[in-house]
Amino acid sequence: MAATLTRLSKPSSSLSHFRRFISSSSAAIASETTNPPSSLTFNNTTTLSRKDPKDRNVQWVFLGCPGVGKGTYASRLSSLLGVPHIATGDLVREELASSGPLSHQLTEIVNQGKLVSDEIIISLLSKRLEVGETKGESGFILDGFPRTIRQAEILEGVTDIDLVVNLKLREDVLLEKCLGRRICSECGKNFNVASINVKGENGNPGMSMAPLLPPSHCMSKLITRSDDTETVVTERLRIYNEKSQPVEEFYRSRGKILEFDLPGGIPVSWPKLLEALNLDDYEEKQSAAA
Ligand code: ADP
Repeated sequence: MAATLTRLSKPSSSLSHFRRFISSSSAAIASETTNPPSSLTFNNTTTLSRKDPKDRNVQWVFLGCPGVGKGTYASRLSSLLGVPHIATGDLVREELASSGPLSHQLTEIVNQGKLVSDEIIISLLSKRLEVGETKGESGFILDGFPRTIRQAEILEGVTDIDLVVNLKLREDVLLEKCLGRRICSECGKNFNVASINVKGENGNPGMSMAPLLPPSHCMSKLITRSDDTETVVTERLRIYNEKSQPVEEFYRSRGKILEFDLPGGIPVSWPKLLEALNLDDYEEKQSAAA
């Protein structure tokens, strides 16, 4: 707890270094696309961007299968800790909506449940960090990045990640949650119309999750993500197991991972997650100070 609070209280300029180095790595990757390298290397200056965690804001990563709730919990924590929540899936959807040059190519990839190339993702992330930097943002909670070992290596090459939270849920529940997901086309908030009630089996406990319904003014504006169909979610889960599960091992072997089995919906899971992060009294102190 104390360590987390100390970290939170210190301003940081490390994001600009991260942005700069991730930009240069993106440029390096782009120039290597004709001859893809087996690994990416960074020059020695990269290490200069590393700051003692005590002297900067948190740099966390959220991992987990599609539908597990990375966005929900990462966004709540980012508000609590005062750091940006950066979801690469949102960056991809913004690019799709913008009808920019990548839009057509990305629509096809996303609607098949495939991963966008590392080059494109790093370029989108780099741009997002650049915008954040001009607004004085520092620290981050990354959601949906890294999703491949190569992305994890690139990130590791440019900055230090303090903590990786690996959210876990049963696969049948993940599918139900993805199918019940709805977004308000006006305010952009996420909701879920699924009412989940699964029985315990094979030693796994049962689980109930109430729907997360929108307020009445959002009700008529709800849309479903085009990649939240049963076929595409099944493919995304398969790709997660193939490409992203090794990323869990990457961080596990570096002693950075916090495994968190979600015990249910937000009312039960949020306090337990804060407890696991030693932030349980932080929320109370924040509200008392407000
Ligand atoms: P999910 O619910 O599957 O976690 P996201 O909203 O994080 O979905 O991502 C939506 C889509 O955007 C992914 O299926 C993928 O096509 C693309 N995407 C997001 N992040 C990445 C990434 N780090 N690498 C490659 N593709 C990504």
